[in-house]
Amino acid sequence: MERLSPDTIIGIDLGTTNSCGAVAHGDGQVKLIPYKGGEYTIPSIFAIDDKGNELIGHEAKRQWQLNPRNTLYATKRLIGRAPRDEVVDTMQQSVQYRLHAGDRNDVEVDCHGRSFSIQEIASRILAKIRDVASDHLGFKVQRAVVTVPAYFTDRQRQAVKEAGALVGLEVVRIINEPTAAALAYGIGKRLDERVLVYDLGGGTFDVSIIEIRDRVFEVKATGGDIFLGGIDFDDAMIRFVLDDFRNKHGIDLSSDPVAMQRIKDLAERTKIDLSARTEAPFSIPFITMTPQGQPLNMDVRFDRKLLEALTQHLVDRSLKIMGGVMVDAGITAKDIDEVMLVGGQTRMPIIQERLTRFFGKPPSKGVHPDEAVGIGAALYGWSLQESSDLKLQLLDVIPMSIGIEQAGGAMHVVFPRNAAIPNARTIAATNAVDRQSELAMRIYQGDQPWSADNELLGEFTFSGVRPGRAGEVRLEILFEVNVEGILTMSARDLDTGRQMKTTVRISTR
Ligand code: AMP
Repeated sequence: MERLSPDTIIGIDLGTTNSCGAVAHGDGQVKLIPYKGGEYTIPSIFAIDDKGNELIGHEAKRQWQLNPRNTLYATKRLIGRAPRDEVVDTMQQSVQYRLHAGDRNDVEVDCHGRSFSIQEIASRILAKIRDVASDHLGFKVQRAVVTVPAYFTDRQRQAVKEAGALVGLEVVRIINEPTAAALAYGIGKRLDERVLVYDLGGGTFDVSIIEIRDRVFEVKATGGDIFLGGIDFDDAMIRFVLDDFRNKHGIDLSSDPVAMQRIKDLAERTKIDLSARTEAPFSIPFITMTPQGQPLNMDVRFDRKLLEALTQHLVDRSLKIMGGVMVDAGITAKDIDEVMLVGGQTRMPIIQERLTRFFGKPPSKGVHPDEAVGIGAALYGWSLQESSDLKLQLLDVIPMSIGIEQAGGAMHVVFPRNAAIPNARTIAATNAVDRQSELAMRIYQGDQPWSADNELLGEFTFSGVRPGRAGEVRLEILFEVNVEGILTMSARDLDTGRQMKTTVRISTR
């Protein structure tokens, strides 16, 4: 590690269930940051215990069962989300902690009588990784490349940058998780290949088709679902055991937070066991009492076939999304040289079997599913440092269209999905009425034909429009999406060249 210096940029995989930090040097050697106990990933969990202590990672997970209301997990699913978003309701039904609307059109969480924004929770996890990395490296880490699901919107990407800023960590670049995994796989191998990354983690699913030509990584198409991940596999099992218990004993455990937490824990452990074994008992002693005070146990025989049946719709959904991304890229199964598995949930045997059947060959074992994303982020971070001789070129795309709301509510697409980034486009606009001093535009991201069915990124107002008769002032609106998939907008008067002042409302920024 002779060349590490305080301007080091570490890589951070900020996952829904687990997070990981890494640092690279030389011509691509990577070191994962070890935590107490030697593990390389930490649970993305934040909690406050009954004495008011903040706990992060393993410490938070250890006390989870006893303190379910003040243990915040999977909050990444809420980042950059509006409170009226239906996914927020769905999420509230499956978590034991409480959500409420914040005052920036975002979601906040309650923990031990305090209210936190989702960015604040993410910032605690980033800070933990930064601090452990700093102890390990012997200097204070200040900069990082942070990965996000490829399917994150502009607003969610902004929120991750903000999370870093809250704890004084400069997020120098946001990169997409599957792209990072492809970097971990491809650097130093002088490849000329087309890979498909199938990334099914704890909370999100991404697919990217990436062409690797030595040190150039070019994403051809991407797609995903930020509500499809290991947690949904756990939930399918949880629903099954709750129904089974209700049928046997007439008791609904879903409103008992401690019982639910024990079930959740065991569901995940049983699911993981069933990747290695074909049967596993699902037994929890004394889970509740009958009205007569008689203790009851939960006892279900689980086998791999049952798990597969309960979750088949989730695997089907992922394969359907994958098919759509292949259509977008204009390729078929035979055009893919390697299929890469990323994310812990891809260890489920049926997923590997179905991909093997689909592509006619088994997925590559070239990367570690839990570590590839962090490793790729570290490599990219290293390539951005001045002292580095690792030169990389990443060419990525936006996952969903970005556009404006037209009169009548239809979406006018400015950048179609899979448009290469960085990218810039202009559209012409004019004043609709005499002496109009402001021009406002609602910007959306999504692939639905009606704006209201897409995600509102913000309402941009351009003020200082020159007074003139309707239709006389000609404006040019510039949309720029940077390499991180983040949008900025500006407007200028085409006749005078003067820039308008831009303000944004209804957004996290
Ligand atoms: P990640 O976000 O990549 O850390 O993925 C974590 C998800 O993978 C969690 O939902 C885990 O339950 C799941 N997972 C980890 N190991 C296994 C396994 N052996 N079989 C099935 N799922 C797993």
